Amino acid sequence: MSQLFRLGLVGWPLTHSLSPRLHQAALQACNLDGEYVLVPVPPLPDGQADLEAQLNHLRQGRLDGLNVTIPHKLSILPLLDRLTPAAQATGAVNTLYLDPDQLAGDNTDADGFWNDLQDQASRLHLEGKFTPGTALVLGAGGAARAVVHTLAQHNWQVLISSRHPEQAQKLVQDLAPSLPAPTLLAMPALETAASWLPLRCDLLVNATPLGMHPHTQASPWLEQLPLPEACWVYDLVYHPPETLLMRRARQQGLYATNGLGMLVHQAALAFLRWTGLTAEKLPLILSAMRAAIERQS
Ligand code: NAP
Repeated sequence: MSQLFRLGLVGWPLTHSLSPRLHQAALQACNLDGEYVLVPVPPLPDGQADLEAQLNHLRQGRLDGLNVTIPHKLSILPLLDRLTPAAQATGAVNTLYLDPDQLAGDNTDADGFWNDLQDQASRLHLEGKFTPGTALVLGAGGAARAVVHTLAQHNWQVLISSRHPEQAQKLVQDLAPSLPAPTLLAMPALETAASWLPLRCDLLVNATPLGMHPHTQASPWLEQLPLPEACWVYDLVYHPPETLLMRRARQQGLYATNGLGMLVHQAALAFLRWTGLTAEKLPLILSAMRAAIERQS
């Protein structure tokens, strides 16, 4: 009898999640049986019992894999038995699985972001652009940790700006020890960073929810401040497909992209992890997932 893959996503709220569509498309493309369900779990402490119940389903084999999203990516860590090196380094998880009888947490956001950056650069024949440069990351939450970790691993210098500068400092403190060279720098919130600006950077990443539906008129960048010249703008937000930040960047003649590519790449890596398929299947999975997104837009 063929295996049935029972997969899902825990988070709150989950109303606009594209993950079921992505994973159903991958199951179908790979001729696998299974389902991917949304499991809304409120923030802790209210959601504690619900969250533990889902983890028990994984431990007991009633679930084969779970994704984790806001607000549980960091708070779930104490409930797990072990972390992959990527999850350990970033201090956040987005993918859970049983290995072999330990509940393990992985972080595929980091490689998902990096793989998409490479994909886009190669599609635009701009591989050279992504020799290590300087990046400015806005926000210091779970996604920022993944982005900063992967950029620094690839020898980028990364500046981190957060509305609460102590959070950016904590991120630097936590991530720096696992890095080959001191490449991270916490900077003040943009509003108070006048002496740093205008700034030269090759890549600007929005890792805050500013601009996300329904608050589409919000932007993480100050209205009166031009965006850094010649930089790529990568908005992790993908709903709407063009955020206010992206629109401003394009008006200024800059290349701007949303977070859909990262979403697809992180999902594909989680799918490989759960199904045990090898990386050879990655192009098939990625193209099925991309087609699923195009069908819905
Ligand atoms: P998170 O852990 O909650 O972190 C959010 C960060 O943004 C924190 O530093 C937070 O600062 C800051 N922030 C929140 N509201 C803000 C505001 N009004 N003004 C200034 N800063 C604000 O969330 P996350 O998991 O990192 O996700 C961040 C964004 O990335 C979300 O939009 C998420 O959908 C997106 N994302 C996309 C992908 C993808 O695959 N494309 C993957 C992961 C995440 P405080 O702590 O001070 O609130």
